[in-house]
Amino acid sequence: MARDYYGILGVDRSASDSEIKKAYRKLARKYHPDVNPGEEAAEKFREVSLAYEILTDPEKRRIVDLGGDPAEQGGGGGYGGGFGGGGFGDIFDAFFGGGGTGRGPRSRVQPGADALLRTSITLEDAFVGVRKDITVDTAVLCEECSGSGSESGAKPVPCQTCSGTGELQEMQRSFLGNVMTSRPCPNCQGTGDVIQDPCNRCHGEGRRRARRDLVVTVPAGIDDGMRIRMAGQGEVGPGGGPAGDLYVEISVQRHPVFSRDGDDLHLTVRVPMVDAALGTEIRTETLTGESLTITLPAGSQPGDRIRLAGSGMPRLRAEGAGDLVAHLDVFVPRELDDRSRALLEKLRDHRDDSAEVNREGDGQETLFSRLRNRFRR
Ligand SMILES: [Zn+2]
Ligand SMILES: [Zn+2]
Repeated sequence: MARDYYGILGVDRSASDSEIKKAYRKLARKYHPDVNPGEEAAEKFREVSLAYEILTDPEKRRIVDLGGDPAEQGGGGGYGGGFGGGGFGDIFDAFFGGGGTGRGPRSRVQPGADALLRTSITLEDAFVGVRKDITVDTAVLCEECSGSGSESGAKPVPCQTCSGTGELQEMQRSFLGNVMTSRPCPNCQGTGDVIQDPCNRCHGEGRRRARRDLVVTVPAGIDDGMRIRMAGQGEVGPGGGPAGDLYVEISVQRHPVFSRDGDDLHLTVRVPMVDAALGTEIRTETLTGESLTITLPAGSQPGDRIRLAGSGMPRLRAEGAGDLVAHLDVFVPRELDDRSRALLEKLRDHRDDSAEVNREGDGQETLFSRLRNRFRR
C-alpha cells in the first residue's frame, strides 16, 4: 500500500518545491531528536524526512503521482538502479549518525550544521540574567529562490554525465583482476540531477552567508563556559536544508571584588587590628548594588571566614542561591604616631601577652597547619 507522502507533510498534490520545503522545515524542527527526544518523535521525523526526500525528487514524485511508492523495495522500478531502498540513507545518517553510505544519488538538500558563538558578560549580568544582543554570521536560506537554487524555480533535471545515478563506475585493473569502483559524479556532486538555471544570488546553493542580529536570553546564575542552545538558528544546510542549532558560549568576566566558586561568591575584607579585636560592622555593596553589612565578632582572626547563607549566586534554573563568604585580612599599622604608640604600649603592659613559638596540639593552630588545612579545603 503506497503511503500518502503529501498527507504526511500536509501539502496539496499541486504543492511547489518551496511549499514542500517550507512544510518539511516546520515539521523537521518540531520532531527533530534534539528538540523532541523519544521514539515516537524520531519515527515521525523519519517519516517526514522520507516524504520530503521523495517529493522533492522529480522522478520519485512522479512515481507517487502515478500511485506508486518509491520507498518500497522494487516498488515502481526506477532508473538505472539508482534507488530502491538504499537511496534514502543519507539524510537519516546525517541526523542519526548512522554509518554506511547509501547507494544511489545523495540528496541535494542536507541538514545544516550547528554553529558556535562566544560572548562575554559581566558577573553582575550573570547574577540577575540578561538579554544580550549578538550578531551571528551563518548560512541562511536564499530568499531569491527560497532554497531551490534555481533562478526560474524550475525543477532540476537528471544529470547527463551519470544518467541520474549520482555516481560514475569505472573498471580498474588490480592484482585481483578487474574491479569495478564507483565515485560520486563530479558534474552533479552525486545528487543525480543538475540545476539548469542556477540562482544568481546563491549560485544554485539554495543558501548564502549573511549576518543577523539576535537576542540571546542568558539565565540568572549562568557560569563561565556554559552554552545556551538556540534551536534552528545555526547554519542552513546545502540546498536550503533545515538549519542546525546555534550554541552561544558564555564567558563571565572577572570581577574586581567578587570571585565565584560554584554558586558561592567570595570576597576579601581588610580590617584594622583593633576592629578585629573589638568586633565591627563592615558595609559594602552586593552585585546588584544593594547595601550589605558584614558583622565581625570581637576576637576575629586573620583568615577567618564569615558565611552569609543565601547571599551568593542564584542557582541556575532552580530555587535559592549559594553563600557569600567574606575572608578576613587583618592589617597592622606600619607607622605609629606618638599617641598611638603610647596607647599600644599601655595595652601591652595591661595584657602582658608574649610572643611564642606555636606547637601543634596545644589548642593553637600553627601558621603552618593553618596554611596546610586551608589548602586541603
Ligand atoms: Zn538562490
Ligand atoms: Zn551526475
